[in-house]
Amino acid sequence: MAATLVPGARFVERLGALQTRLAGDGLDALLVTQPANIFYLTSFRGSAGVVLLTPDGARLITDSRYATVATRLVEASAKEIPLTFVQVESSYEETVCVVLKQAGVSRVGIETAHMTLARYDWLKRALAGSGVELCRTIGLVESLRQVKDPGELATLREAGRRISRVMREMLSGLRVGRREREVAADIDWAIRDAGFEGPAFETIVAGGPNTALPHARPGEWRLAAGDLVLLDFGGILNGYCVDLTRVASLGHPGPVALGWHAAVGEAHEAALAAVGPGVWASAVDTAARAVLERRGLGAAFGHGTGHGLGLEVHEAPRVGKRRRAVGSSPSGDDPEDVRLEAGMVFTVEPGVYLRGRGGVRLEDDVVVTATGYELLTHVSLDLLVV
Ligand code: ZN
Ligand code: ZN
Repeated sequence: MAATLVPGARFVERLGALQTRLAGDGLDALLVTQPANIFYLTSFRGSAGVVLLTPDGARLITDSRYATVATRLVEASAKEIPLTFVQVESSYEETVCVVLKQAGVSRVGIETAHMTLARYDWLKRALAGSGVELCRTIGLVESLRQVKDPGELATLREAGRRISRVMREMLSGLRVGRREREVAADIDWAIRDAGFEGPAFETIVAGGPNTALPHARPGEWRLAAGDLVLLDFGGILNGYCVDLTRVASLGHPGPVALGWHAAVGEAHEAALAAVGPGVWASAVDTAARAVLERRGLGAAFGHGTGHGLGLEVHEAPRVGKRRRAVGSSPSGDDPEDVRLEAGMVFTVEPGVYLRGRGGVRLEDDVVVTATGYELLTHVSLDLLVV
């Protein structure tokens, strides 16, 4: 298990902001079950745990495996935040029920994107007649998480520098005859060697026709002369994820591959140029898509332009086409399409994929600033020929 951080002033701010949101929504408490949300609010990183946030503080509910960590965390945070530790005796659900009844709360938010129906049904039955009502919420902590504070940005900047270095080394080390999975193993080792806790997701190495698969799994394909090779990988540093993609060519690329690369590079540039505070996230996607459509490659760009980065490798904000999302209002507004704010961090990663032939994706990580954006990753966008 990774080291536990000691909560500081930023946790006071986060809990305060969330308590204000809860009060605004007419809730007395929030039962936080999403692991990244728990880490964000308390710095606890066990594999199991629940946090009950009430107006008077937070209760960390976890089991004996984490009793030592939780006790230390509570002691360390005592001066900063009113955090208490409740040890699970029989089951999480039973303990949560006892805590909810003792807390004297009535309207308790649950995280519908994370709580299972089985747990919800169990709690609802057990709380019947107790005066505790479970209320559905969606994305309360996630919406706070999407705007990073200076400490989070410093971590992401450092992570961006490190992952860029790994990318430059890995691209220049590509050789004809090596298998995709061998290259992927080297990348995973290099990610740890660079000081990351580990890869942020399964490393993608795709050679030749496999570059047409946006989420190719590295396999037995041996890199061949004339192949495009796509590397997409990320690392986790102090809990925070970065994510980077580049493409290299083994020997001279043909005119078709050069055309794809130039088009994606132009789309990437157009997306970045659109980033700034007050802009709709979907407008960044539109900027990239318009370039590829103009180049006759619109149909080859099947995914969104980017995704938020932070404690999870895919989080808010989503940078894609405006759509009717789950939970959207009857008016058709997309609640996931947000106006960008300074401090939001996300990827910009347009790509084109032509089945059986190949593809190109170029991905960088950016933070929105007061005047535009700042790149967190630093690798040349030129097609590297090795
Ligand atoms: Zn990626
Ligand atoms: Zn990505």
